[in-house]
Amino acid sequence: MAVLFRSSFVKINFGEYSCTLWNSNLRLKSSTVLPQNQLHKAENTPQRDPLDLSFENTKDAFKSKTTWELFRAFLVLKLSTYSYLVENHEKLIAQGKKILGPSLFKFLMKHTFYGHFVAGEDAKSIKPLLDRLRSFGVKSILDYSAEEDMSEDQAKEAMKKAKLSSQATSDPGELKKYKPYEKFADRRKYRVKARTYFYLSEAQCEKNMVTFLKSIDAVAGSTASTGFAAIKLTALGRPQLLMQLSEVIARTRKYFKEVTGVASENMVAQQVTPSTFATKLEYHKIKTDNEEVKKWLQNMDYDRKGVLPSVLLMNMFCWSGLVDLNFVMSDLFKVPNLQSGRMEPIITALNPDEEEMFQNMMRRLHHIAQNAREKDVRVMIDAEQSYFQPAINRITMEMMRKYNKKKAIIFNTYQCYLKEAYNNVVLDLELARRQGFFFGAKLVRGAYMEQERIRAQEVGYEDPINPTYGVTSEMYHKTLSEMLRQIVEDIQAGNEKRIGVMVATHNEDTIRFAVKKMEELGIKPEHKVVCFGQLLGMCDQVSFLLGQAGYSVYKYVPYGPIDEVLPYLSRRALENHSLLTKVDKELRLLRKELLLRIAQGKFFYKPKGNYLPI
Ligand SMILES: Cc1cc2nc3c(=O)[nH]c(=O)nc-3n(C[C@H](O)[C@H](O)[C@H](O)COP(=O)(O)OP(=O)(O)OC[C@H]3O[C@@H](n4cnc5c(N)ncnc54)[C@H](O)[C@@H]3O)c2cc1C
Repeated sequence: MAVLFRSSFVKINFGEYSCTLWNSNLRLKSSTVLPQNQLHKAENTPQRDPLDLSFENTKDAFKSKTTWELFRAFLVLKLSTYSYLVENHEKLIAQGKKILGPSLFKFLMKHTFYGHFVAGEDAKSIKPLLDRLRSFGVKSILDYSAEEDMSEDQAKEAMKKAKLSSQATSDPGELKKYKPYEKFADRRKYRVKARTYFYLSEAQCEKNMVTFLKSIDAVAGSTASTGFAAIKLTALGRPQLLMQLSEVIARTRKYFKEVTGVASENMVAQQVTPSTFATKLEYHKIKTDNEEVKKWLQNMDYDRKGVLPSVLLMNMFCWSGLVDLNFVMSDLFKVPNLQSGRMEPIITALNPDEEEMFQNMMRRLHHIAQNAREKDVRVMIDAEQSYFQPAINRITMEMMRKYNKKKAIIFNTYQCYLKEAYNNVVLDLELARRQGFFFGAKLVRGAYMEQERIRAQEVGYEDPINPTYGVTSEMYHKTLSEMLRQIVEDIQAGNEKRIGVMVATHNEDTIRFAVKKMEELGIKPEHKVVCFGQLLGMCDQVSFLLGQAGYSVYKYVPYGPIDEVLPYLSRRALENHSLLTKVDKELRLLRKELLLRIAQGKFFYKPKGNYLPI
């Protein structure tokens, strides 16, 4: 996907798309396979190795590493299998710093955990590693990983300060999910595997924006325009605003159901038109000839292209206003009150300062997107907790609509551990198709499972996570299959590269599933519509074997000063400890290759790759 949507800019007739759409009627066509004569020709054929899907070929998997790096990888992964070390690592780090002093401690970290999981301190120092990855067929997603060293009490304080004026009351049922709770103020707790931003001030959010802009510059300068910059929306404004917007979305669904009796998924209602909606409002004794209500009904976002009522899509609000810089949340999200008949905000109105903060958040996001577009860099928006996710998803979709007109600049992330993941992806694909923008998505399983479950149970709403690991994996494979099916459908219609997917996982079964599905459907790496993603320092046997075989592969590459990336290292140690079967395999492969290199006297082996990432 290095040049996903880049190398050929096919003129797309979105009118045709809507025709295909009606026939497809949102059903999965399992028989869609791409005939070989419709495959696009590869422009250049780079050096390729055959792909061994057992991911056991240690010689090829580790030929990008020096013997010292192999030893370091073995040592670091081995240390993370010891429960005592992992459980007490924070104490040990503090003691280590005290006993060794700052310089020796840094030296030790650089030659162990930091050296293994982190690329370097800044954009300049990481360049040699990025070049080496590229020369072995692997591209980069840069992720500046410096974090605040904040205690739990400080996190609680930050949450209290950031609470919105309208968030004081508690609601019954599902809406409870979208309120802040002191117990969960420290969003790093309960085995969270991803970085957490806390709101300190608007100035801090500006600083975070500058960091992301620098990351875009670093991608532009060091990845030959093949990379991504990863960003999190909670870094760009008060996270409570995202919670509030998620609540608007939940309330809109609830209101829609109350009025029509039809459940609306993902803010898009099927089978209901504004006129049927108006009739339903009249049942509730709302005067639809009232000027305000009439205007509201006229402004409903209604897709009129359809011929089959089962796929009519209607939106109660015109969400594109959301990314408008003059947008006022309480003005946009007004509905007729079912008791009074008057147009009223669907949530308690934000105060003017909070409205301004929301606009600030959007301004920062636009600044990032514009910068990325100018520098020809793509932006990956990470998925976060499920109580932020409806807002993050909605904003990201609107940003895609705005910035992905000619190619995909903005990419969304979908967490397949969520019960609603498949439906969300299908509907978003549908919206992208109808509204004529390029759709880029990263599929992950999800990084907040334990915290999500505990919060749902303690606060008292439905657990948003699939009941078992098996169901999550099924959801992943089903969602990926649907995306691949639609990709093939596009290619068959001559409109390739409108959808791009990143299979972001360390799970070898899922990677095998994706590769086999690509083969089955006739999708080739040269189509540049499917890519893979793993973290730096994890699952190298997968990333490099795929990259060297000509698949599009990315490493999430963290960078930042040693002291500030310790929390990141801490999460990697915990994650590796919880993945013992996977780590066992990596250790076995590393041991095998190390012994071989020792037996062959290759102590000073110098990696030299001549692969060209796709
Ligand atoms: C490149 C990259 C980018 C990422 N970006 C994000 C991101 O933006 N947002 C995000 O949330 N995560 C992100 N992640 C992390 C990801 O969501 C997973 O936590 C991590 O990759 C482990 O999942 P896996 O598929 O690699 O491995 P596996 O070991 O196959 O899966 C473990 C995952 O399965 C799920 N799971 C485990 N047990 C159960 C259970 N009992 N019931 C239901 N589900 C279960 C959980 O999600 C768990 O993390 C990213 C990962 C990568 C590699």
